[in-house]
Amino acid sequence: MTYQAAFSRPVTVRLMLSVRFLGGCPMLAIGNDEIEKAPKLGNFILCSICGKRHKVEYGEEVLPDGTKKPSKLLAFYKCGEKNYLAGINGKDIRKI
Ligand SMILES: [Zn+2]
Repeated sequence: MTYQAAFSRPVTVRLMLSVRFLGGCPMLAIGNDEIEKAPKLGNFILCSICGKRHKVEYGEEVLPDGTKKPSKLLAFYKCGEKNYLAGINGKDIRKI
């Protein structure tokens, strides 16, 4: 699936997650069961960096014919000038 973030220009998304080493390679690995257990993501999140509330933004799925439709697969939030990954499939993954 092609996925396009909700930003008009390329952005760097920072992961506030622990990175596991699988087979000697650093990989971001989150199991389906972990995502299922994660709390539901709301429209705003309380930022662990600055302590303020930030709006949760989503991207779009690019369909085979090139059209786009809103998707909640990946959720982001912006703190200052930086973007952070907040959720997957509507779940708050920041505390996994
Ligand atoms: Zn913040």
